[in-house]
Amino acid sequence: MAHTYDPTNIFARILRGEIPNKTVLETEHTLAFHDINPAAPVHVLLIPKGAYATFDHFAAEASADEIVDFHRTAASVCALLGIAPGEGYRAITNAGAHGMQEVPHYHLHILGGKVMGPLIQR
Ligand code: AMP
Repeated sequence: MAHTYDPTNIFARILRGEIPNKTVLETEHTLAFHDINPAAPVHVLLIPKGAYATFDHFAAEASADEIVDFHRTAASVCALLGIAPGEGYRAITNAGAHGMQEVPHYHLHILGGKVMGPLIQR
């Protein structure tokens, strides 16, 4: 099945400047901002500026420049917020119905500032 993208999602609206965000870092291809409902003392969302719905969509179709920029920005965010090198963090991405993704624009959650507990319920 082909990847689809809904441009009305809230992160697309943030990227278009239609709603505000608390930016941590912005580059040519990537935006990092604080989650509006943080689940940890540090909870940053990292999103590509391109129209990608999920991690696998981004991994399959983004350019090499976008992919490198995204990951370098992740590293910069970790350094900027003092979580790595340091006490560490958890990076999570949800995709689709089984992943319980709420916002259909690819985003990496970067969570830190406390021990995060088990990864998933068994
Ligand atoms: P997910 O369930 O992985 O799609 O996560 C969506 C995340 O987006 C949640 O952690 C929300 O708290 C967060 N979120 C939703 N709207 C906003 C917003 N306007 N600004 C920042 N974070 C948001």
